[in-house]
Amino acid sequence: MLRLPPFRYLAPGTIEQAMYMLAQEGEQAMLVAGGTDLYPNMKRRQFTPPVLIGLHGIAALKHISGSPDQGMRLGAGVTLTTLANHPVFVEHYAALATASGSVSTPQLRNMGTIGGNVLLDTRCNYYNQTEFWRHSIDYCMKKDGEVCLVAPGSPRCWAISSADTAPVLVSLDAQVRLVSVRGERVIPVRELFRDDGMNPYTRLGDEILTEIILPPADDWRSVYLKLRRRGSFDFPLLGVAVALRFAADSTVADARITLGAVASHPVEASEAAAQLVGRSLSPELIDAVSVAVSRRSKPLDNADLTINYRKQVTPVFVRRALSQLAT
Ligand SMILES: Cc1cc2nc3c(=O)[nH]c(=O)nc-3n(C[C@H](O)[C@H](O)[C@H](O)COP(=O)(O)OP(=O)(O)OC[C@H]3O[C@@H](n4cnc5c(N)ncnc54)[C@H](O)[C@@H]3O)c2cc1C
Ligand code: SF4
Repeated sequence: MLRLPPFRYLAPGTIEQAMYMLAQEGEQAMLVAGGTDLYPNMKRRQFTPPVLIGLHGIAALKHISGSPDQGMRLGAGVTLTTLANHPVFVEHYAALATASGSVSTPQLRNMGTIGGNVLLDTRCNYYNQTEFWRHSIDYCMKKDGEVCLVAPGSPRCWAISSADTAPVLVSLDAQVRLVSVRGERVIPVRELFRDDGMNPYTRLGDEILTEIILPPADDWRSVYLKLRRRGSFDFPLLGVAVALRFAADSTVADARITLGAVASHPVEASEAAAQLVGRSLSPELIDAVSVAVSRRSKPLDNADLTINYRKQVTPVFVRRALSQLAT
């Protein structure tokens, strides 16, 4: 049985208390929301923070407000189950509801939060292993080792961004609010991610993600498709998040396509998506754009299924996603 390392647990009741605790405890502290990513990682000794600051008791992180016309705001502590079943998201931000409902298992979705999902640690076959297993291969660059075992000549880590909601929030053009004792900032969610498996987020150590801000749903329609080995429980091996806005004449007025689980950050296929604008979604156009999008997918051998399969299935999933929105 894997056991948690010892730690001190702080339980703030407000965002302000959490901010000050984080500032006071400094680098030795980590935030924990649902704990469904962090606690398993701590059991595997990928993280051993002496102090945890639990966000679970902060009611202000659990709000959902706004309207599809004006845009929605949701607290970082909203659970994935809530999002998956919420009628506004199911109807107007369908990809987000689908992605939230596709994470892991019902029990973990009841605990897991949208904030924790967005800030999920990047994953790799050589990293998401027990300490004993990693010790036997002399560890790797992301934790306790020197070399990347996936690409030994590489100066960087290629661990994968595996959060289901991350590519969706990019395609929906969401923003995130980050607060600290120094102040607060609101940035486009795409600027929260960095193409670096070891430091995948631009969030600073003293910042708390408090809120996700979604723009008005307008006439946008969205879809999320996920490749995984089993029908539930598994992390994505590919995530395709497509958001399209249609003009009155049924041509595409605006398009965003983002791939998840193919790199250390969500990968936007902006040039390929731009090919859709001003045109009707014909089968020929869908085929051409699907192939163009798949050129942005460059998976490495650090997840389940073979690289070739994951590469070849990308245009198939993009085609299915676009076809769903065409009907
Ligand atoms: C068996 C299993 C299967 C899983 N399958 C999937 C899957 O299919 N898809 C998927 O996306 N995920 C999956 N997960 C991971 C996890 O369950 C989800 O990503 C979940 O949404 C994480 O949310 P959490 O609240 O539990 O995060 P936590 O574990 O509490 O935190 C995750 C990280 O985010 C940070 N954090 C959390 N909240 C904040 C905040 N407000 N501000 C700043 N930092 C914060 C924490 O410090 C930590 O680094 C799986 C996990 C398990 C154990
Ligand atoms: S990509 Fe390389 S450095 Fe990163 S976790 Fe995997 S083996 Fe380690």
